[in-house]
Order: sequence, then structure tokens, then C-alpha cells
Amino acid sequence: MKDVLVIGGGPAGVCAAICAARLGVKVTLVEQSGSCGGMATAGLVGPFMTCYDAKGERMIIRGIFQEIVERLVKRGFAIHPKEVLGGTAFTSWIKVGHDHCTPFEAEGLKLVLDEMLLEVGVEILYHTAFLEPVLEENKITGVKVASKSGIEELYAKVVIDCTGDGDVAARAGVPFEMGNEELGLIQPATMFFHISNVDTDAVEADIQANLHNFYRKDGVNYRSLHWRVAEAREAGDWSLDRVSIGLFRMPKKDEWCVNTSRLMGIDSTSNVSLTRAEIEGRKQADEIFRFFRKYVPGCENARLKATASHVGIRESRHIQGEYRLTAEDLLAARVPEDSVFIAANSVDVHGLFGPKSNEYVPINGDYYGVPYRSLLPQKIEGLLLAGRCVSADSTAAGAIRVMPPCMAMGQAAGIAAALSVQQTCTPKALDATVLIGSLKENGVFLPHLQ
Ligand SMILES: Cc1cc2nc3c(=O)[nH]c(=O)nc-3n(C[C@H](O)[C@H](O)[C@H](O)COP(=O)(O)OP(=O)(O)OC[C@H]3O[C@@H](n4cnc5c(N)ncnc54)[C@H](O)[C@@H]3O)c2cc1C
Repeated sequence: MKDVLVIGGGPAGVCAAICAARLGVKVTLVEQSGSCGGMATAGLVGPFMTCYDAKGERMIIRGIFQEIVERLVKRGFAIHPKEVLGGTAFTSWIKVGHDHCTPFEAEGLKLVLDEMLLEVGVEILYHTAFLEPVLEENKITGVKVASKSGIEELYAKVVIDCTGDGDVAARAGVPFEMGNEELGLIQPATMFFHISNVDTDAVEADIQANLHNFYRKDGVNYRSLHWRVAEAREAGDWSLDRVSIGLFRMPKKDEWCVNTSRLMGIDSTSNVSLTRAEIEGRKQADEIFRFFRKYVPGCENARLKATASHVGIRESRHIQGEYRLTAEDLLAARVPEDSVFIAANSVDVHGLFGPKSNEYVPINGDYYGVPYRSLLPQKIEGLLLAGRCVSADSTAAGAIRVMPPCMAMGQAAGIAAALSVQQTCTPKALDATVLIGSLKENGVFLPHLQ
């Protein structure tokens, strides 16, 4: 019997496991792939979106996120967010809401996360997939997993669902919303890829010469290279339903991260749909890469460094919890009493209605709070949620789905799980003020409570 089982080793799951283990409880982390980091590593997603307040003045997502960033910086795997400004190559020249992102190397992150998990004694089970929960009436007591070793049951006092898709909660019967059910739509998926051997000065020169051409909406300045995409389309070399390129400079000067392919209507809870996304995503990445070499000055000798080993999933299940965070809460900069962290990430909903329908809405205030109640699923005891699947409406999830908030949720869920074990109570019965006290002791920044 374990104390805490964390299912999924993405940004949320790793932070949950480390933070629970640091409080002295026995933790096992179950991850279906061969490394941790989820979208940050297997998905090649980057940079870490901003961890600062809306004015770009103070780092507000701290705690375990800050520790991971500092380790990465020390090892030369990341650039510290204090040195990264919006409107630069590191933010795809987007200004609003993009001050102080963190460019990082996926390979470095894999190493650092392994080290941090092992340092605190987390048992890691890679190549192990969650199958179904073990339930005793309305309480989860463990999970059934599948691996090369066969099918087995793992028991624990508390389980944390960090699968991104909310697999554990959904299979345990917790109600959920799939994408935006009001609109009957889901955010598109994207196959990220990285290119290397780029003459970055030449790319920058082309961008600077065309900065006045950028498309501006709601004060947001984006759509790099649309002048080159138009050229390629005219010549019959561009067939995609996209008008520009999302292009982020990486820590190594000759490397760039490309966030451009678009896969509509993907259901990441279906293996058939995911398979279609992987194949179509690689095909689109190939077309975009060929476009770079032919049309983008500085990319004539570029190399396709890697396509993601897992297609990027922006949205799937939003599990219903004790509180459903709404877009209105975030945009009005509300800080509920039981907030377990604060963030200022804007609502960022991509292309629900096609290539020009991105919705990017900054908040009206310095920051908002995410309540503990959003990490507590309805119906089931002994279960916590962290990361992309937490209880939020589709638009609010479009803000807090980025990696720094997911890591902060992981920290909160991990500490809540450990405290529940130590106090022999369920996470729902845990006093939120005790949790918040422990979060503050562990570096979480909650200035309204100082
Ligand atoms: C296209 C795209 C662009 C993005 N851009 C940015 C950006 O620029 N900056 C930013 O900060 N964020 C960005 N994000 C958001 C961010 O990457 C994700 O929302 C975030 O990684 C979610 O973290 P998570 O831990 O909840 O889930 P994930 O990162 O999805 O991790 C979930 C983990 O659980 C594992 N898992 C899943 N199911 C099972 C199972 N059944 N059994 C065992 N293991 C399982 C997975 O293998 C994975 O390791 C982007 C996302 C996408 C898709």
C-alpha cells in the first residue's frame, strides 16, 4: 500500500509527486511513456508561458516551478524568465501577456525531473499505463495498471489524476465536459517540431523588416511570417489552413520551436483519433519544414531536429469538481479564499472556428487565484486533480492549461495529498487554511495572505 499514487508524469504530475514526497509520505508515480514532462518533453511544447503578474513586474508562480527553472538555468538548459521579454524572438514577437516566458531544452528537462524525483525517493514506474480505478463504493483505493510486466493493482490512500485527460476521474464516474460543450467544439491539436542549424540573425532581420506587417488584435501583436506563407501559397507550396507561423527561439541560438500545424476535431481520449493526429501532424510538420528551407531567409540549411513523440493536446475533458472555475473569475482577477496559487496567464483559445479565430484575452487586474475546490472532483473521495483536466470551464481552462499554472496545481495537489495522509482525512475534509500554510512554507507566493 502506497500513501500517494500520482497518475501521469507531466508538468502537474511531477510537481505533485515531488511535493508530496518532500513531506515524508511514500509516493509512486505512474507514467505511460519513458520520461517525465508530458507535453513539455514528449510534446516538445515550449516555452513555459509567463509566470509573472499581468504587468510583467513580479514573478508570481514560484514554489516548485521556480525551483525547476533555477535547476534548468544552472545546467544551461533554460534562460531565466527575468531575462526574457515579450515582443522578442523568444515569444514569437507576441507582446501582450508574454513578458517573462522561460525557453528551455526538453532533453535537459527530462534529466532534471528524473533527478528531482529520485532525490526525494519517489518510486517511478515508466512504461506503465493507467487502466481503471479500484473503487470501494465512492472512494478510490487504488488503480489497475498495464505494463510489460502484465496487469497489476496498486493501492494507495490518495490518488492524484494528472493524466491531462482526466482518465482516472472519468473512469471513476466523475462527470466531465468534453471541450466546449456549449459550442460543441474542442481546441485543435498541434504537432510541435524543432528545427536546428538556423541562421538566427537572418531570420530576425526578415522579421524586423516586416514587423509593421504583423497582425494586431486586442493589442496582441502576432502572426509572424505571414508574408512568406502568402508567397508559398501563391506558388502552390502551402496547402495548410494556416496563415502564419508560431515560431519561438530556443536557448541554443540556432534552434527554434515551431507551433504551427493544426489538427481539428481531435479526441485525445480515442486511440483512433490520436493515431490520425500523429500521422497528419507529421505530414503537416514536413510541409512546414520544407516551407522554412525554401521561403524563410536564414533557414536554407535548417535541419528537422525532431517532431514531437506525442501530438500536442490543448483540450479534452474538464472534470467537474467542487468548484468550476470560470473565465469570468479569471478575467475579473478574483482571488477566492481557498486559492492555492495565483497566476496571470491570459485566456488563450486557439482556432475553434478556423485559422483566424484565436481568442487571446488578457485579465483585468494583476492576477487571479485558483481555488483548492477546483482540484477536488465531485462524487469520489480519495482523489485529487491537477493540470489540464481540473475543474474549469473551457475558456478558463484556456488560461490555466499552460505549464507554470499546471506545475503550481501539481504542487498544491501533492501537498494536499500528503497532509491528508498525515492527518488521516480525505482531501475533501482537509482544512484549506492548513494546506495554504504549508504551501507558503514551501515557497508558494500568496501575497494577499502575507
Ligand atoms: C499545441 C500546444 C501549445 C502549447 N503551448 C504552450 C506554451 O507555449 N507554454 C506553456 O506553458 N504551455 C503550453 N501548452 C500547454 C501545456 O503544454 C499543457 O497544457 C500542459 O503540459 C498540461 O500539463 P499536464 O501535466 O496537465 O498534462 P500533460 O503535459 O499532458 O502530461 C500528462 C502526462 O500523463 C501521462 N498519461 C496520460 N494518460 C496516462 C495514462 N492513462 N496512464 C499513465 N500515464 C498517462 C502522459 O504520458 C503525460 O506524461 C501548450 C499545449 C499545446 C498542446
